[in-house]
Amino acid sequence: MAIRISKSKYLNGLQCPKLLWTQFNQRDLIPEPGAGQMHIFNTGHEIGDLAKLLYPDGIEVPMNYEDLAATDHETAVLLNCPSADRVPIFEASVLIDNRYCRVDVLVPVPDETGEEPNRWDLVEVKSSTRVRDVNINDVAFQYDALTRAGIVLRTLSLMHVNTGYVRGEEFDVKQFFHLEDITDRVHNVLEYVPRTVNKMLNVITGPDPDTPIGKRCTSPYTCPLISQCWSVLPDNNVTDLYFSGGRAFGYLDEGLFSIADVPDERLTHQQKIQKKAIIANAPHTNAKQLHNWLGELAYPVYHLDFETMNPALPPFPGVRPYQRIPFQFSLHIQDSPGDEPRHVAFLAREASDPRAALVEALHAIGDEGSILAWAMGFEKGVLNDMAELFPAEAEWLAGLTERMVDLMVPFRSFWYHHPDQKGSCSLKAVLPAITNLSYSELEIADGNHASRAYAEVVYGQADEKTKQAVLDQLLAYCELDTFAMVEILRALQTV
Ligand code: SF4
Repeated sequence: MAIRISKSKYLNGLQCPKLLWTQFNQRDLIPEPGAGQMHIFNTGHEIGDLAKLLYPDGIEVPMNYEDLAATDHETAVLLNCPSADRVPIFEASVLIDNRYCRVDVLVPVPDETGEEPNRWDLVEVKSSTRVRDVNINDVAFQYDALTRAGIVLRTLSLMHVNTGYVRGEEFDVKQFFHLEDITDRVHNVLEYVPRTVNKMLNVITGPDPDTPIGKRCTSPYTCPLISQCWSVLPDNNVTDLYFSGGRAFGYLDEGLFSIADVPDERLTHQQKIQKKAIIANAPHTNAKQLHNWLGELAYPVYHLDFETMNPALPPFPGVRPYQRIPFQFSLHIQDSPGDEPRHVAFLAREASDPRAALVEALHAIGDEGSILAWAMGFEKGVLNDMAELFPAEAEWLAGLTERMVDLMVPFRSFWYHHPDQKGSCSLKAVLPAITNLSYSELEIADGNHASRAYAEVVYGQADEKTKQAVLDQLLAYCELDTFAMVEILRALQTV
């Protein structure tokens, strides 16, 4: 059977020859996409369908997976119809010279001079908010395939989400999108496409290229084979180095696999501490700095965490695409060091703007005392957003941000570092390393999942039972985020 390189396989091949080879030769090794990946796909489809509304005369080429040649033929019929009957075509399909692609939109160019009767503008629709290099390569591949099939293209554009759009009472599809001409950028890389496709055909028909791991494993996308390719690395390997950047892959190229093998003179101050803790298999502490920092805390201490969603489609007026919207918080309050905390929770349950009720509930925070958050830039950002939205509360909210203290600081400063953190200072890494708690038992165990699950059950079609179950899971998740901070603070107070 002839090899068909689709545009997604072409992009896979640009990222890594081994990934491309596996796609064609050991497809069963590629795991099914996870929930996060599916969410991205679904958002892409939703936005693709929305873009079609901008071309009300458009016709979609029906997909026949069993017979791509038939789909290709349907496209040819639409492309070659009389000039007066030409309409925008969705999912035009081209199968030629080992290439296969479907084009989001082909728009007929009016033939004003009568000399160029069958030209088209190509529009690629993306759910992203800007043009990326990967989009240029994507469209270059499409251009190469379409021109081989004799289709004459005038302009090439990317239609992406316009983050400057603020939704009014009605959703305005036209304002939601931004059409950006990328013709010149695509033409700049066109000459590489045929050469690259030929190389890819050789890779596909050759032996496993055994490509070394590197930056390519996470750029431009996280590779689905990462858990397999990276499983050969030992525990505490150089990719776990705190803020290693690309240097970890340089170490691997040199044969330096374990953090313990990297000479001290090549490590940063924090990385040296990490290495020392790994070799000693014990936490590193700087008691003096820790005690100074703990001494600055003012009681009552409020442990605060927000959950937010950032839907592509603004769900109510006054909101931009992908704008951060807080829908939940958890607050644990300790009146004095070591106290059992009191807990306050807020979770908006209805599909309406939750922000006014959330700000009102935040008044559970008293007028004095430190407000602890983990990586507090996020919580401060939410409070600043609310101050902008509710001018009458702005002064009070500004006062809250001034009282905020970042519980991540002792870890980011390496005044406390446990080898089980694996070079990460995230709450999810620190909690199980220094307490008996972890997120492993929870149905919802990270912020992205919380955001997706919330939007699905509150703004989607979930039945009441499912909705209640997920809202309970969200309450449990957010509560643990702030209880984790209580327990981590306790652990630091015992050093
Ligand atoms: S994990 Fe890295 S080396 Fe392995 S296939 Fe993916 S990109 Fe290639």
